Amino acid sequence: MFVAFVGCFAAGTLPSRGEEPALSEAVVRAAAALREKALAGTHAFEILKSLTVEVGSRFAGSMGDAAAVAWGLRTLKKLGLSNVHSEAVKVPRWVRGPASGEILRPYAHPLALVSLGGSVSTAPEGIEAEVIEVASLEALKAVQPEAVRGKIVFFNQKTERARDGSGYGKAVDVRSRGAIHASQAGAVAVLIRSIGTDQNRLPHTGGMWYDDKVPKISAAALSNPDADLLAAEIASGQPVSVRLRISNRELGQAESANVVGEIPGREHPEEIVLLAAHLDSWDLGPGALDDGAGCAIVIETARLIAEVAEKPRRTIRVVLFANEEFGLSGAKAYAKAHEAELARHIAATEADFGAARVWRFRSRVAPEKLAAADAIAKLLAPLGVARGDNRTHGGADLIPLRAARVPLFSLMQDGSHYFDVHHTANDTLDKADPKDLDQNVAAYATFAYCAAEMNGGFGEAPPFPQKKQ
Ligand SMILES: [Zn+2]
Repeated sequence: MFVAFVGCFAAGTLPSRGEEPALSEAVVRAAAALREKALAGTHAFEILKSLTVEVGSRFAGSMGDAAAVAWGLRTLKKLGLSNVHSEAVKVPRWVRGPASGEILRPYAHPLALVSLGGSVSTAPEGIEAEVIEVASLEALKAVQPEAVRGKIVFFNQKTERARDGSGYGKAVDVRSRGAIHASQAGAVAVLIRSIGTDQNRLPHTGGMWYDDKVPKISAAALSNPDADLLAAEIASGQPVSVRLRISNRELGQAESANVVGEIPGREHPEEIVLLAAHLDSWDLGPGALDDGAGCAIVIETARLIAEVAEKPRRTIRVVLFANEEFGLSGAKAYAKAHEAELARHIAATEADFGAARVWRFRSRVAPEKLAAADAIAKLLAPLGVARGDNRTHGGADLIPLRAARVPLFSLMQDGSHYFDVHHTANDTLDKADPKDLDQNVAAYATFAYCAAEMNGGFGEAPPFPQKKQ
């Protein structure tokens, strides 16, 4: 067993007696000092405030998106990062128009709803049809096509509140793929219960996709109370009819950009620790939590480390990705443009889960490098951060790095309230707490500094299981 194990690795990668620890005492001391400095107060909230006030919503390809790229460039320069530049990215341009809906019978009510991102329009006079309620894509498959044909499919599945955000993952497929499945069954439109944990009347938008093999049908999200109302009418046993009017536009492609800034490494500038966030937001609000907070956290982390007298050995690179929300355009463009250096990305993490405190540290490193990740976890423990498993998926913008086996890390934020405002008009600055952001910066700075300074790297990340289709 042991012999076979050794055979898997190049000579020199197995730990041996007398090998240097991943983190020297000096690095541990410097990282702890950075952590305490961040806890005492950072500029993260001011950076977030600047983005939400000076730019606001910044959906891919919009004027706000262009303003955000300009904001990113001037902010990274002003805060002392090096090699600050933009990298052009083409993004799809979808423009939201008016959307309205009402229950016509048995009991008439207006409905609070928004188009899902990417939805096609209805005819100008709207669509009027009976509604059929199902809980999930699986439940829809179990319904006879005759019962669906010509109807509006209402996906009524509640999003569970969970600290780790797992409720979102369980519910989101009806948003992203519901229109494909409903169209396959002959439906004329889709309504979903918002993928969100609040009970107010602001519906949650989000990306949805079509399949060229079936007609494109309109899709909208109801606020949770409106979904309750519609469900109550359906539960009365009488046929329920709804009218929907949706008007959106597709304008082909537009220009956007990833914004990049660095702290060049003093010894191994070619080796990179990637700190990611996404600069775009949805169009309904200023995206303070999604993902203004992530931008502020990684920018402030880099600024803080840039102030340290001796720069870290490796390069810390901040990338504010374009268009995460509507197709990962920036992440795909980055992986392509930087393909030759992906093997030298020794660690990557993305802040994209709001502004609440970090509570768990997950990794995806080579099994023989777990001790290095554990050593960083020890330094995070005083922040109330527990060591998680070695199976993190990283953030959405890190998906294109998976094939290159880049080691991934997640400083998981408490997601208990994130999905109350996610992708709504309510995702505003007041939802972020300055002290919580400081704790985030403390965690990110500890992690990034250690990863950029440590002896040896994290090896190759274990591969992801092949997706079954
Ligand atoms: Zn996001």
